Amino acid sequence: MIDTASADPLPAAAVHPVEKKEVLFHGFPASPGICHGRVLVFGAAHTDFREVDPIPIEASEIDAEIARFQSIEKRDAKIFDAHLLIVEDRLLHKEVVSRIRNELCNAQSSFLLTIRRYLDAISGTNDTYLNERAGDIRDIANRILRNLNGDKDGGPSLDNLPENTVVIAHDLTPSDTAMLDRRNILGFAIETGSKTCHTSILARSLRIPAVVGMRNIAGKFANGDEVIVDGFLGMVIRNPSRETLAFYREKISRKDELYSILQKESSRAAETTDGYRVKLCANIEGADDLEEVSRCGAEGIGLFRTEYLFMNTPVAPDEETQYKIYSKLLRAMRGRAVTIRTVDLGGDKLDFASASATREPNPFLGLRAIRLCHEKPQLIRTQLRALLRAGVYGDLRIMFPMVSSLSEIEELLAIRDEVMEELKNENLPFDPKVRIGAMIEIPSACLIADALAAKVDFFSIGSNDLVQYTLAVDRLNERVAYLYRPSHPAVMELIRLTVEAAKKHRIPVCVCGEIAADPRFTPILLGLGVLELSMSPNAIAEVRGVIRKTSMLASEQLAKIALTAADPEDVMVLAKEHIQSVAPDIASILG
Ligand code: PEP
Ligand code: MG
Repeated sequence: MIDTASADPLPAAAVHPVEKKEVLFHGFPASPGICHGRVLVFGAAHTDFREVDPIPIEASEIDAEIARFQSIEKRDAKIFDAHLLIVEDRLLHKEVVSRIRNELCNAQSSFLLTIRRYLDAISGTNDTYLNERAGDIRDIANRILRNLNGDKDGGPSLDNLPENTVVIAHDLTPSDTAMLDRRNILGFAIETGSKTCHTSILARSLRIPAVVGMRNIAGKFANGDEVIVDGFLGMVIRNPSRETLAFYREKISRKDELYSILQKESSRAAETTDGYRVKLCANIEGADDLEEVSRCGAEGIGLFRTEYLFMNTPVAPDEETQYKIYSKLLRAMRGRAVTIRTVDLGGDKLDFASASATREPNPFLGLRAIRLCHEKPQLIRTQLRALLRAGVYGDLRIMFPMVSSLSEIEELLAIRDEVMEELKNENLPFDPKVRIGAMIEIPSACLIADALAAKVDFFSIGSNDLVQYTLAVDRLNERVAYLYRPSHPAVMELIRLTVEAAKKHRIPVCVCGEIAADPRFTPILLGLGVLELSMSPNAIAEVRGVIRKTSMLASEQLAKIALTAADPEDVMVLAKEHIQSVAPDIASILG
């Protein structure tokens, strides 16, 4: 995506008479684009107080900062006394105030530096009791920090944000992200997460720049800080200098220019230079995304993630509610294919019920997606009833996520048959010919793809999970994100096996994971035999641009090398070199 968002709330100089020091933070790029706005620190800062970065103030700001700290300290005095038994709070107070006054640090960083000194002092003793209290100290200090950052009781509300907001948080869940006030959110940066966590996927579909996996940053920002989020390079810049602002203005205008050129090609076919047609479809998270689908020229919907219908709502949507949503979608798509996935709750997507239940130790290996059909049989039955009934309004395809064994598909097909029988007995119209597909996102499914292909009408490769399960890398965990490599030859081989089985059984195969939205992977996927790709609508322009400039011949050569490469990095270098040579303009915006 080449979308950029820029709000220039006020030139830095107008807000701060003297420019504050620019500070750069690195994370992982989660959603492309660049934004410039004012920080809102959301939720618990969760700093561990190890890395403290003094935030300078002007001499004229000393009294205001001290007053701010004193008012918070009064508010939290009770808890302060109860927990910080080792801290004579008057001493702590004095130290913070003295840092503000003498070191010209703002209230947050003076407080952070002071707490760090206390924690260092504790860890230098052999006192078990004191060492056990360190956790309490961190907790209460985090609370005070939140208050210093301006959170009122209960914190800020994500669905009603001030203008030009950039959210900085320890974490945003997918349901928090779905709730973001679309009018005023410019972008976000969080400490957790990776490129394929659902928070990142949602940011891309909301077209807001985002950076994830920025360990330990929340405590380094205060509400109102001026900030740039560079979602291409995975960087966040606090107090950008005039030079940095000028650099980014220029970068944004270059990207806008290229985007408008690519956008003009949205009605052109995605066809390689040697005449191979590729079907490009859209991934959506709700019916609100339909406008985007038609704007980007998608040929259909390749993945509707229905689990979002179950989040941010006090009760599960009933059959009629779901039936209306699916029918509306099918009618709006006027005969183009609409692939609706049955709920994939679990993992990082929790509904109202599972969010309050006991967390599983390994949610991604636990009760997720179709596995819920034993504990909550009504969930899948209600959804299948609504889907089959809506099927009469268009070209519906239903797909099941997280298939690992043949017996699961057999069981689901049996439920589908029972549901059809019920509908028949109730004289409710439905489409008995709705095609059924399996998501191929667990390595075992790739290895038994031949048997699965004999049972279903299509495959859709979920590369996000396929990479996670093949490489044993939690897709949410920023600490192992460096190992999450979609270009791993093992992943390539599993895709190849899946395509081979699909071809043998003459069923279509689509790739709908994030690898499909990354133009650097497009030629390799074509070379592996994938001629259907589904992605966030705003990624389609670039992917189409690359397809139109590449040949199947070159793609097949690339795929051959990718399959036999020793290392994921070798595949990545190859993919980047290819894009650079066929589409240098697109390569330049990928960063
Ligand atoms: C995938 O796993 O690639 C996929 C498309 O599904 P999700 O990201 O929702 O798990
Ligand atoms: Mg998946």
